[in-house]
Amino acid sequence: MVRVVVVGGGCAGIAAAVGARKAGAEVILLERQDQLLGIGRIAGSMDVGGRYPLHLEIVEMGAGEVNEALDAVCLPNVENYRKSHYPHHSLPGSEEMTKHSWVYNVLTAEPVLRKLLQKMGVEIRWRSRAVDVAKEGSRVIKVKLANGDWVEGDAFIDATGSAGGQNHCIPDVGGCVMCPWMQCATFGNRVDICGKAGATTVSMHQKDGRPGIKYNGLYLYKGSLSKELQQQLDENHQIFVPFRGVIDWDVDPEWSWGTRGQDGNDGMGHPADPETSWRVAPDVGRFRLLDRGIFAGGAGPSPIPLEKLREIPGFENVVLAAPVGGQNLWSLGYDLVFCEDCLRVPPLDNLFTAGSKAHMVDVQPGINSGYLAGFNAVRAAVGQEPVELPRTTVTGDIIAFTQQFLRDSAQTEYGGPTTFVSAHAGHYLRRLKDVGFFPDNPEKARKRIAEAGLTGFFKQQVI
Ligand SMILES: Cc1cc2nc3c(=O)[nH]c(=O)nc-3n(C[C@H](O)[C@H](O)[C@H](O)COP(=O)(O)OP(=O)(O)OC[C@H]3O[C@@H](n4cnc5c(N)ncnc54)[C@H](O)[C@@H]3O)c2cc1C
Repeated sequence: MVRVVVVGGGCAGIAAAVGARKAGAEVILLERQDQLLGIGRIAGSMDVGGRYPLHLEIVEMGAGEVNEALDAVCLPNVENYRKSHYPHHSLPGSEEMTKHSWVYNVLTAEPVLRKLLQKMGVEIRWRSRAVDVAKEGSRVIKVKLANGDWVEGDAFIDATGSAGGQNHCIPDVGGCVMCPWMQCATFGNRVDICGKAGATTVSMHQKDGRPGIKYNGLYLYKGSLSKELQQQLDENHQIFVPFRGVIDWDVDPEWSWGTRGQDGNDGMGHPADPETSWRVAPDVGRFRLLDRGIFAGGAGPSPIPLEKLREIPGFENVVLAAPVGGQNLWSLGYDLVFCEDCLRVPPLDNLFTAGSKAHMVDVQPGINSGYLAGFNAVRAAVGQEPVELPRTTVTGDIIAFTQQFLRDSAQTEYGGPTTFVSAHAGHYLRRLKDVGFFPDNPEKARKRIAEAGLTGFFKQQVI
């Protein structure tokens, strides 16, 4: 039987494994940790901005399994949550941005996805960190694990993401903050598998030119907040807690540098496009706490020493989930790979990628690109040409747009991107609006996918 080996079990790797199984291959998923979902174990926010058309499309294309699993652990009070967003999200022109938003429970999502993979017949190998590859000509033939074992396959998918490990975080962004999704001290650092295979990769760059991006945000253990704040969170799902007068943190260009592609600001902390901005300058005087299950939190000012945080009313006993230490931020954006629009990674014939490894951040782009990578890996394994999705679909568009963005940014003084491509906000959401993909609705998406000839596309077997 044809075997596809997926490296990395984040949302992209999970969807790739399901996609390759549906297309008819035997699938081995190598995950360095003992849990799936990677950064998705702290994410949770779905269907904001351009994530929604991507969600509608993957369902239309016959690949709703991963979304259905996450939907099954959706947090309650969705209507209250939708009403609780930043005031500018309900202004004319912006109201579509959060209209469909919901959050999956980050605590219960992983077991649900694990069951999905088991049901689909994916073999998961835990604590299996890929460290090298062996090739024959332009084909990868096997992947080496940190324990010295080799895993052979007919096609491979690098879905290892772009975060850390400690080998990057310590020299590049000031230190390890013990993020809950990488756990490098126990499971070892991420490895650039595409790079090992001879592909071209490029890293993001900070304002001072150092590699990797500091990703701001503050995630607290919900149970450590005051009873009042917990109650408000239970009811409204999302609350804003002012910190002015306690914490001296203003519109600081430094903290919004890496995320300005999502904020729609100009890198100086000023909102450029309120219609597509997730956060805007007036909102930085308060924390946005979004209930994500065990954690409450969101992108915004950080890092702040614990003793300072505990001076905020309601935060007296607060415990930080991440980033711990009050000195550093998370790091992302390493070893992003150049690929074809079918997600094949040149110069290899049978290596594919998906998700944040190819600079498409957010859970939904990871899922959509994962399914395509899984499908195309099976085609490559049996000697068929992989397929591209047309740019008349958001799924096809975000892949092509992001690769162009990577190529263009590699020509700049930084030699790589300095901000993210993210469907939920910022410059890419602006594009979706300008092109007419956004706002979206089920009927519009159904028509778009039907016209592209892709209805039920991922239900077809390659083998
Ligand atoms: C703080 C924060 C909050 C976010 N919130 C949201 C949100 O609310 N909604 C949203 O849509 N997006 C959110 N995002 C973005 C989103 O979470 C990520 O873009 C997405 O989860 C990335 O998925 P991935 O599968 O590409 O990579 P990852 O999640 O990084 O997964 C990579 C996997 O590969 C494994 N791996 C790495 N190297 C190896 C190796 N050598 N061998 C084997 N396995 C390996 C890792 O252990 C990991 O499981 C957030 C991001 C951050 C940082």
